[in-house]
Amino acid sequence: LYVEHALGAGQSVPVSREQAHYLFGVMRLGVGAQILVFDGQSGEWLAEVAEAGKRGGVLAVLSQTRPMQMPPDLWLMFAPIKKARTDFIVEKAVEMGAARIVPVQTQFTNSGRIQRARLQAHAVEAAEQCGATFVPEVVEMQRLDRVLGAWENTRQIMFCDEGQVASKPTLPAVCGPWAILIGPEGGFADGERDRVQRMGQAHAVSLGPRILRADTAAVAALTLWQSALGD
Ligand code: SAM
Repeated sequence: LYVEHALGAGQSVPVSREQAHYLFGVMRLGVGAQILVFDGQSGEWLAEVAEAGKRGGVLAVLSQTRPMQMPPDLWLMFAPIKKARTDFIVEKAVEMGAARIVPVQTQFTNSGRIQRARLQAHAVEAAEQCGATFVPEVVEMQRLDRVLGAWENTRQIMFCDEGQVASKPTLPAVCGPWAILIGPEGGFADGERDRVQRMGQAHAVSLGPRILRADTAAVAALTLWQSALGD
């Protein structure tokens, strides 16, 4: 269970109304039941239900069960698509160990808005489900040119583009900050492609000879990056 409360042994952690509904209503946990909790900063902790009510409760933190495990400094940048597919991308990005999720507005981005808070809640659920101790931040949608301009030379980019000649994807063994860039349903505009490829740290990658949906491409790219450079 994710809690927005810094954890430590001996601490009492308030349980929100929604969490109480899930823990005490759906899961039927009562006083004395044990549960694993994490705050996204200090690893995972064993806690015990100290108070359980319909509108809230209290957990007593007992001891640490796992240290904090930070993901590599890998951002997933993608142009949001339909709601359900965007939800899927966020969920898979968390499972695959992205450190930050950056929706970007490109020339052909279909969706001009995202519901950031809803996507962040999905990220929390995905972290709870996959046992991650870290929850990546889903940031507000930003224009692609602005994001690229902001970190001109600081972050390597795995630029996924179906226009590349399909060959075995290779990534240089460069440690440090990386970002995966996935385009929208309509792909990248020529100007965007040129802009990214002019950047010294952009590495254009083909994900195979077929055109993948953006959500498939995101999972494939995360898998490739983790297998080449992840820990
Ligand atoms: N421009 C294409 C079109 O309309 O025919 C489709 C774009 S594809 C649905 C969405 C994104 O997934 C692309 O912008 C790219 O980032 C990624 N992608 C899909 N297939 C790919 C491939 N074979 N290699 C690399 N990236 C791919």
